[in-house]
Amino acid sequence: MDTEEEIRNLQKQINELTARRDLLKNPPPSVEVCTVAEELHRTLCRKNHTDGCSWFDRNKPEDWNRDYTKQEYVAKAEELLSSAEVMGVYTQDLLNAFIRIYKAQHKLVYQGGKSNVTNL
Ligand SMILES: [Zn+2]
Repeated sequence: MDTEEEIRNLQKQINELTARRDLLKNPPPSVEVCTVAEELHRTLCRKNHTDGCSWFDRNKPEDWNRDYTKQEYVAKAEELLSSAEVMGVYTQDLLNAFIRIYKAQHKLVYQGGKSNVTNL
């Protein structure tokens, strides 16, 4: 192995160790937080997910701490989870209620129609 190749290999190891250290220092959100964040994104995001918010571009665990859009929805998910705990209700029940209210509001504002929550 020549010197240049040895340097490239050592640099690669440094990069891998740095990434591992960064993940240990700042671990990604829990699976529960990511699941709620994904559902909130599915409901609330009005952008093109490919060009607008780039939701699907970065999906490695470490990306949850780097990606601005994912961080935005992680913050919302953490708020919802915290609220469910304070209220003593199931997270999924609170999430479902939020989504139903949001969709009813969206229908009223953007479609000028009468909300019909039962048909959401
Ligand atoms: Zn999106």
